[in-house]
Amino acid sequence: MWYKKLHWQIVIGLFLGLAWGLLSSVIGWNEFTTDFIKPFGTIFVKLLKLIAVPLVLASLVAGVASLNDTTRLSRMGGKTVLIYMITTLLAVTIGLVTVNTFQPGKSLPQETMDSLQETYSSSLEERSSSANEVLNRGVLDFVVDVVPDNFFAAASDNSRMLQVVFVAILLGVGIIHMGGEKAKTLVTVFDAFNDVIILIVEHIMKTAPYGVFALMASLIIDLAGDDLGKALELLGALGWYSLTLVFALLLHVFLVYSTMFKVFSKDIGLFQFFKAIRPAMLLGFSTSSSSATLPVTMERVEKNLGVDEEVTSFVLPVGATINMDGTSVYQAIAAVFIAQALGMDLTIAQQLMIVATATAASIGAAGVPGAGIVMLVVVLETIQVPTAGIALILGVDRILDMCRTVVNVTGDAAVAYVVASTEGLLNEPNFDD
Ligand code: ASP
Repeated sequence: MWYKKLHWQIVIGLFLGLAWGLLSSVIGWNEFTTDFIKPFGTIFVKLLKLIAVPLVLASLVAGVASLNDTTRLSRMGGKTVLIYMITTLLAVTIGLVTVNTFQPGKSLPQETMDSLQETYSSSLEERSSSANEVLNRGVLDFVVDVVPDNFFAAASDNSRMLQVVFVAILLGVGIIHMGGEKAKTLVTVFDAFNDVIILIVEHIMKTAPYGVFALMASLIIDLAGDDLGKALELLGALGWYSLTLVFALLLHVFLVYSTMFKVFSKDIGLFQFFKAIRPAMLLGFSTSSSSATLPVTMERVEKNLGVDEEVTSFVLPVGATINMDGTSVYQAIAAVFIAQALGMDLTIAQQLMIVATATAASIGAAGVPGAGIVMLVVVLETIQVPTAGIALILGVDRILDMCRTVVNVTGDAAVAYVVASTEGLLNEPNFDD
């Protein structure tokens, strides 16, 4: 039966959650939903996050330690970063071309702008101060941050995934150099640890339909509050901006990823690729967090897409941290939208500056909800557009965050497939659930 398949159950959970959220707003059950339904969504996301660090550590140590030669690792690393950079640059470019073509900012009535600025200006401060911290950092601080000074501190914070990757590579390479029986034992231990974690991910995923239901229901009441009409009105006012962004995200997926598949994949097409990673895409949408989705992305790409663990264990955690194509598209569109709405015409030089800063900003953005809008402040500061302008888009940002996170997750999976294909590390795919 179709509805027994996991991805359909997640879709059903998503729509039922949506319906429940709307119903609670209309008939006044918000308190019940917040007290008794929302916690299940929170627990679900916590479980996914809980599993991410051990999974990355175990799979990457096992992957690196079983390599016959470490040159493959550095080659794969270079390739991964290069492809991530290229896809990000393409994403920003697609965003810029789309926003300059549709010009959504020019159609925003002054009256709507005034009321948006008034409603959201109080939420600006927090984001601006986080952005200022980023702006005050040195160029090489990003590299310094990759090296932890305490393993437990690195493993205690999911946003420090690159530090965990660093430790895992160090440990893996150490095991190779040590060699002998003890090294074999360590590899077996990490391998077994990895297998058991994958099993736990599969169990957690069985609860995904309920988790997604709870997440969607609480999201809707958070957005709509007690005044659903006002929320819908806001969505309508920013409709053209939202549509432009969604269109550009789709364009990026169908243009860039499908070209990548045509060039690098002999066996499967873009739609089969989607089929394999559906649950990860749905979770990216419901959680708005590529970090929380990481364990599921790793499981699906390895088990269903057939990408060897050697690739997934390295490419995906790095991607969840530095590769955010959806966020890049969004930053280009949002920056130009705000400038247009404020009546500023951006010069070519300013637009080129957006390409550079949005690329860097998406690399610096963490894979958590709302990270993109903090980094947008950095982009706006660089092109000298008033940062107060983000008040214009805050009202719809949560929903658009969900859409851009799907693209972030899809991009990581696509690059993992391409890297595996060029390294000859593709196994038999499995398109069943
Ligand atoms: N929520 C996004 C992610 O986790 C980041 C963003 O806010 O753009 O990938």
